[in-house]
Amino acid sequence: MAGSKSSNKKKCSFCGRAEEEVGLLITGLHGNICDVCSIQANEIAQEAHGISQKKNKPAQLNFEDLPKPVEIKKFLDQYVIGQTDAKRFLSVSVYNHYKRLLQVNDGDDVEIEKSNIIMVGSTGTGKTLLACTIAKLLHVPFTIVDATVLTEAGYVGEDIESILTRLLQVADYNVPKAEQGIVFIDEIDKIARKSDNPSITRDVSGEGVQQGLLKLLEGSVVNVPPQGGRKHPDQKMIPVNTRNILFICGGAFDGIEKKIAQRLNTHVVGFNASRDSAKIDKGNMMQYIAPQDLKSFGLIPEIIGRLPVLTYLEPLDREALRSILTEPKNSIIKQYIKLFEMDGIELTFDEEVLEYIVDKAVEYKLGARGLRSIVETIMMDVMFEIPSQERKACRVNLEYAQKQLEKANLSRLQTA
Ligand code: ADP
Repeated sequence: MAGSKSSNKKKCSFCGRAEEEVGLLITGLHGNICDVCSIQANEIAQEAHGISQKKNKPAQLNFEDLPKPVEIKKFLDQYVIGQTDAKRFLSVSVYNHYKRLLQVNDGDDVEIEKSNIIMVGSTGTGKTLLACTIAKLLHVPFTIVDATVLTEAGYVGEDIESILTRLLQVADYNVPKAEQGIVFIDEIDKIARKSDNPSITRDVSGEGVQQGLLKLLEGSVVNVPPQGGRKHPDQKMIPVNTRNILFICGGAFDGIEKKIAQRLNTHVVGFNASRDSAKIDKGNMMQYIAPQDLKSFGLIPEIIGRLPVLTYLEPLDREALRSILTEPKNSIIKQYIKLFEMDGIELTFDEEVLEYIVDKAVEYKLGARGLRSIVETIMMDVMFEIPSQERKACRVNLEYAQKQLEKANLSRLQTA
């Protein structure tokens, strides 16, 4: 009897220590596990699932290989027309960001701080294109997220952490690699506070989201659901440190010109008033944008403080649209020529056609985004028929382009 009593004494089935020797003993059907062994078991399981941080290595960066700001801008020039100021800001910030990743602690207490970027400019002026092109150059994980789908935890929409899920996915769940990536947050203006006063009621999509975003921007360890979506109790979270992730935010900030004008007007009183106001280029107010305008628009000061690099994109004029059509490395027209080349057909456009396409884009206020839909409409019938014909060349003239566009329902394009 005494023997069987001693064998009944609870022990950890893994390390053999008795219940009184361990902090906690978890009892199972056929065995027990102590707190220390359970932690070890969890680590082994994580290794097996490939989500251990130790297993993955960050991308190897080399200072000598880093493109200098002038080179970065030259690269951007191949894909993006105009936007000189934004390109210069972006080139310098990205270069500094990578210097920061490579900094060695030489004991002088000087630590280079992160320089997240915010780009302000009307829709279709090239914000996303700039961010994508930068990522292409740097070979780092890159993802675009839309701020409009984000809501505070617990509300319908996506949790802030889901921003990092996408980054993890493009980095193949290599956590250290994702931790050096770039996230482009589009439509950041849509999470602006609706009124200038901090609200007493809950502001589901505005200030609460900004507060959540702040945590990511300033650098902290965030538990990310690997499959995205809502946090699920049985979904294993992956801790991701956002300290070295570069955030580039973009937004149209519709109506911010008015706030800029108001600020400039209130400033130019007194002594030099007439001289200063004469210098203001009223056609392009965006170039005078300052952090306080973002605040008047409804971004909280903490967020603005975490986006120290503020730059703007110019509205695209007729000349810029004409260049966009043919000049960038993968311009729309070059893409169509390539498509036809694959069928063995040489495609050409009369100069008048290109001018006509630009005129229509301007007329319908479609901007650069509209150029593609217009070309698509003109080319649709040809693309349907020509691959089955024995043709070696195709020349698009003005008459044909006009006919195709008139035939199509233009109002459809207008709302595109
Ligand atoms: P945004 O993010 O500012 O709304 P995008 O970068 O998505 O605009 O631009 C939409 C499309 O218009 C791009 O895919 C590109 O084809 C074209 N585009 C816009 N601006 C430019 C530009 N400055 N240079 C070349 N193409 C541009």
